[in-house]
Amino acid sequence: MPGPFGIARLLGPAYSLRCVVFHDISAMESPFTRGMRVTVPPDDFEAALKFLTQYYTPVRLQDVLDASERRGLPPRPVLVTFDDGYASMMEYAAPLCRKYGMPGILFLNAAFLDNEGLAPDNLVCYVANVLGMEAINAAARAIGNTDIPKLESLAEVFSRFFPSISLAERRAFLEALAHLGGINGCQLAGEAGLYLTRKQVGELAASDFEIGNHTYNHVHCRSLAPADFGQEIGRNKAELEALSGKKVRSFSLPYGSSADLTNDLVRNLQLCGHEAVFLSESVANPRRSDRVCFDRVSIHANKDDAFFFEIEVLPRLRAIRNLLWRPSARSDGAALRSTQPDEGISGAVSHPKP
Ligand SMILES: [Zn+2]
Repeated sequence: MPGPFGIARLLGPAYSLRCVVFHDISAMESPFTRGMRVTVPPDDFEAALKFLTQYYTPVRLQDVLDASERRGLPPRPVLVTFDDGYASMMEYAAPLCRKYGMPGILFLNAAFLDNEGLAPDNLVCYVANVLGMEAINAAARAIGNTDIPKLESLAEVFSRFFPSISLAERRAFLEALAHLGGINGCQLAGEAGLYLTRKQVGELAASDFEIGNHTYNHVHCRSLAPADFGQEIGRNKAELEALSGKKVRSFSLPYGSSADLTNDLVRNLQLCGHEAVFLSESVANPRRSDRVCFDRVSIHANKDDAFFFEIEVLPRLRAIRNLLWRPSARSDGAALRSTQPDEGISGAVSHPKP
C-alpha cells in the first residue's frame, strides 16, 4: 500500500487533512434510510477503521485547531466524523471506534434527540419507500409553488427541491407530507428510535467524541435569513453544550454543499464561537486548509483498494476538476482556504456563494 500512496501524490501532492464522514452504521437499511446511501454495515465500517488506523494518523479537532505553519499535523492525518446522530452510534460505531482507538466528532441536530420528532430526510425517505414518489410530489404541489418540476428520486428532493424553497415552504411541505401519509411524526419517531438520546450524547461527549453543530432542524443554510440563525445555529449550539458540558467548536453543513456557505452564515458561525466548518463534497483538502473550512469524504467502500480510491484518488481528481472547470469555486475556495490561522472564519470568505 505505501507504493500507491506515492503514486497518488502525483495527482496532487498537497493533500493534507483527510476528513471522512459516516452517518448510520447498521446491519440493514430501514424504510427511514433506504435509498439515502447513509447506511454502512458494521463489518464495512470496521474494515474502514482498520484501513484508517493502519495507513493514517488519527487526529482530534484540537490537533487540527492547534496546527500551524510551524507545527503542522502529523503525517497523513485523518479526522473521522459522524453526522445526524443515528442511534446506531451507540450500538456499533462508538464501540468499534474505541476498539481501534479512533476519536471522532458527532455533528448533531438537537431537535431530533430523544426521538421527539423525525428528521425531514427520514420522513421523506419513509414516505417515498412506503407510499411512493407520487406522495412526495403531491405534498410538493400542496405548498402552492407551481414552478416545481416533478420529483423523480430522493436525491432530487434533497439536492434540488429543498434548496429551492423557503423555510416556511419546507415546513408546509413536511406538514403536507405527514398529513397525506397519515403520519404522526412524534409517535413514528418514538417507535423507530432512529436517533441518540440526550443521555447518550452526554456519555459519548464524556468519552473520545467531540460534539459539533449541524443546525437545529437539519436545514439547507442557504435558506436561512439572518433572523433564523439564532434558532438554527445558536439554539442548537447552546442545547448541545448543555448536554455535553463542553464548548461546541465546529459546524458541519447539512447536505455538505459549499453553496450553503454564505457570507452571512460564516459571520454568524464565527460570532457564535465556531472555529472549524466542514463540508461533504469529497474534495481533497490542500495543506493550507489546516483550519477554518474542511471538506470530507463520504465512505462507502469495504476493501483496502476501494478505500484508497475513495480517500486518496477521487478527492484529488475532484480538486483538479474544480480547478479546471469551476474557476469561481477555485477563487472562493482559495480565499476560504488560504486564511491564516489567526484570521478566524469571517476573513475567509470574500464573496457570497451562489
Ligand atoms: Zn446531516
